[in-house]
Amino acid sequence: MNNFSYARASDVGNAVTEISRDKSANFIAGGTNLIDLMKENVARPTRLIDITRLPLNKIEETAEGGLRLGALVSNSETAYHSAIEKRYPLLSKAILAGASPQLRNMATNGGNLLQRTRCYYFYDVATPCNKREPGAGCAAIDGFNRIHAILGASEECIAVHPSDMCVALAALEAKVNVTGANGERTIAFADFHRLPGDTPHIDTNLHADEIITAIDLPAQGFAEHHAYLKLRDRTSYAFALVSIAVGLEMEGDVVKETRIALGGVAHKPWRNRAAENQLKGQPASNANFQAVAETIFREAKGFTYNSFKIELGKRAVVRALRQAVEMKREPDTQFHRTSTEPT
Ligand SMILES: Cc1cc2nc3c(=O)[nH]c(=O)nc-3n(C[C@H](O)[C@H](O)[C@H](O)COP(=O)(O)OP(=O)(O)OC[C@H]3O[C@@H](n4cnc5c(N)ncnc54)[C@H](O)[C@@H]3O)c2cc1C
Ligand code: SF4
Repeated sequence: MNNFSYARASDVGNAVTEISRDKSANFIAGGTNLIDLMKENVARPTRLIDITRLPLNKIEETAEGGLRLGALVSNSETAYHSAIEKRYPLLSKAILAGASPQLRNMATNGGNLLQRTRCYYFYDVATPCNKREPGAGCAAIDGFNRIHAILGASEECIAVHPSDMCVALAALEAKVNVTGANGERTIAFADFHRLPGDTPHIDTNLHADEIITAIDLPAQGFAEHHAYLKLRDRTSYAFALVSIAVGLEMEGDVVKETRIALGGVAHKPWRNRAAENQLKGQPASNANFQAVAETIFREAKGFTYNSFKIELGKRAVVRALRQAVEMKREPDTQFHRTSTEPT
């Protein structure tokens, strides 16, 4: 049993002051990840700063024609918000592909960005893990690495980021608004999460004294042509082996603008700008989609148990692009509201 104290932040400034004065403190929002990590003895905060009463619970229009998602809006409220369903259905579908209705009701947008990897060894404190304990080693590299990274991994860590929501946010090129002791700043989504390198214990570029206040969606939502394809061992309540978020802008049969983000393959949502540019101005043909998939996975490296992800990923890219062009919904991309989710 690890003792910890508890405080409820009264406003954003107070939350920043609280987190700045104690290096071992953690914010707690929905608690769906942090409490599990505490139960497993992976996270041992000495103080919890409860941020759930802060006024960061709104979805609002931005001056640029986009939407601002408060950090404390729940994943369910976000996915079922009428403006998200209409203008950013890719985001709605990605969120609803994750977790369960009960978890999505508790989970917050800020917490979703900061959820930690699902690497089995990270959760098992009896095994070496550089992310949990820098310098300890990585049990996954020579261990059971079926769910691990095939892109952007390092010799220190081959974990993947587990979020679905973040894959859509990467494709949409969202921005993350944060406030810290030095004031406010905005982080482009591509710069928010990190690759492991030789500091795999640092997941993001958020500073220790900063709180996420909101996520901004740009005006372009790719509502006409998008797809979120999540491939996993079970069709619900499982993390992605590979997931693909696609947003396309079409002019007839020609692709004008392309966004492709991948989940389940790297330490952060993965984009390959060269592959995206390859498709711009080209006909939406399977041959072109296949060429894009080859570019994305050209540098991919499998480990003992996860090499299958490379071929799976290529096929998923082609299928998601085809779905986005035709806007066909296949069974594993259909998500239904359940009786426990808000209407
Ligand atoms: C069984 C299970 C299955 C799941 N399946 C999926 C899935 O398939 N796909 C998926 O995407 N996710 C899945 N999840 C993860 C779930 O989406 C996350 O746990 C959730 O989004 C975290 O949000 P939270 O508000 O509960 O965060 P918390 O647990 O409260 O916090 C998580 C971390 O974020 C920090 N934090 C929270 N809010 C802020 C803020 N505003 N500013 C700064 N720091 C902050 C906390 O200090 C903590 O470090 C699953 C979770 C469980 C338990
Ligand atoms: S892959 Fe990363 S999280 Fe998993 S055991 Fe290795 S260092 Fe730890």
